[in-house]
Amino acid sequence: MNPYEVLGVDRSASAEDIKKAYRTAAMKNHPDRNPGDHQAEERFKKVARAYEVLSDPSRREAYDRYGTTEDPGPSSGMGGMHDIFSGFGLDDALRAFMENFGFSSGGSGPRVIHGEDVTVRVNLDLEEAALGGRREIEVERNVSCSECAGSGADKASGTESCRQCNGMGKVSSIRNTLLGSFRTVSQCHVCGGRGTIPRKLCSNCRGRGYEKKKSTISVDLPAGLSRGHYIRLRGQGHHPGQSGVPGDLKLFINSIDYGPFEREEDNLVYPLTISYPQAVLGGEFTIPLPDGDSLKIKVDTGTRAGTRFKQKHHGMGRLNRRGRGDLLVEIDIHVPGKVKRSEKELLKELEESSSFKVKKN
Ligand SMILES: [Zn+2]
Ligand SMILES: [Zn+2]
Repeated sequence: MNPYEVLGVDRSASAEDIKKAYRTAAMKNHPDRNPGDHQAEERFKKVARAYEVLSDPSRREAYDRYGTTEDPGPSSGMGGMHDIFSGFGLDDALRAFMENFGFSSGGSGPRVIHGEDVTVRVNLDLEEAALGGRREIEVERNVSCSECAGSGADKASGTESCRQCNGMGKVSSIRNTLLGSFRTVSQCHVCGGRGTIPRKLCSNCRGRGYEKKKSTISVDLPAGLSRGHYIRLRGQGHHPGQSGVPGDLKLFINSIDYGPFEREEDNLVYPLTISYPQAVLGGEFTIPLPDGDSLKIKVDTGTRAGTRFKQKHHGMGRLNRRGRGDLLVEIDIHVPGKVKRSEKELLKELEESSSFKVKKN
């Protein structure tokens, strides 16, 4: 799913155009204008979600760099950037719509509390970057309190129903805005949306509802990542406690060790230095591959410095696409700085020999 397509704008659209497109689409599909129309509701959620991504410059850039998400590929299991449309309910969409047009939910209660994102920087080796793989990530983050399951309430004393919202957890109201009247549903600010309040605070988390915990998370890395990319794992960040929802875990690709290779987009370049006689006579050479294997290649007779021999499909995996780039073996010719007397004589002889004369252009 592509947020540009959802809003019907192009990739070069300005922030203003994006906002305009969102406003038009959100108005058209707003649940209050399409009562009972489930498809309109789905469209409404999608446009709100697409706008959330494209209105945030850093998220828009990340989306652009990460490429299209048409083909989820093997990395979608944990919910990377591919899943930008998941985990987003109608309440979120309604709230976002009100906020985006400058009508905050005012005194009707706090909005859903989102936990903070956790960013983990990782350094990849060539094989992981080229072919993808699985990484175990150690992360310390706030998780829902194990004693009170996030309620913040002492287990033995229990909870009582919230009087503010009659145990519903939500308060709904009609708001009149420049765009017309809309129903907003907001959380009860007394119970934070739970519908219950603790009689006594949990002693483990002192009522906060979360505690620190180290965990190991397994992350699928798609092939073809570059430095500066990040993979967003929705809902795997810090838990804010109480009724909030966890932030995201962001895996930031800090560096990639390409070893002896150089990367040119999806291709890898391997510099192969051969001797001058080898360049003239040709020969067979063994070169390393990104997966740790090796490959025998043939260098033709009369090969010049700078020649590239293409080994198809031995380069980097293509991010979010099928196939791999190529491995380009680039020839350099070793020229000795110092030679022995006997070698010098051989070279002088060659210099005089007709095949070695530089022909005029
Ligand atoms: Zn607790
Ligand atoms: Zn309440």
